[in-house]
Amino acid sequence: MEDIRDHYLAWLRDAHAMEEQALTMMRGMLSRLEHYPVLCARMEQHVAETERQAAALRKLLEGRDSSSSVMKDTLGKATALGQAMGGLFADDEVVKGAMASYTFEHMEISAYKVLISTAAVLEDSTAIPVLEQILAEEQAMADWLSDHMDQTTRIFLARDEAGIPARR
Ligand code: MG
Ligand code: FE
Repeated sequence: MEDIRDHYLAWLRDAHAMEEQALTMMRGMLSRLEHYPVLCARMEQHVAETERQAAALRKLLEGRDSSSSVMKDTLGKATALGQAMGGLFADDEVVKGAMASYTFEHMEISAYKVLISTAAVLEDSTAIPVLEQILAEEQAMADWLSDHMDQTTRIFLARDEAGIPARR
């Protein structure tokens, strides 16, 4: 059971780092979305959700991880995927950002499914509804991005066709 607990705490810390990375990515992307108001509004909503997710994870960790270096371990620690996507957002247009966001949401979905299973094995019944709430938000964001991939692509293509620079 101690080994399971160690995995659980490590995966909670990883999830917190993932949410911090998500905030960095989404804020970077938002600064270039003024011509995509529908995508912009949904992403602003998800930034607010993600801030609450990160806070909820910190609270879970504070109650469960006795090591004093929890936040030191997680802050600034980015996933490899997040790093790669940050690079995409820096130099590329909205379509690549929408694709990367959709991929990132699925990484989050898998992470929370693993955490929910582990919390169930450990009978951590107070954490499960918190993790399920976050999972539902990630799934909703992934579904939204999927449902709007066509619209985002078409706006980009129309602007491109009109000779408007991609990064404006
Ligand atoms: Mg998230
Ligand atoms: Fe998310």
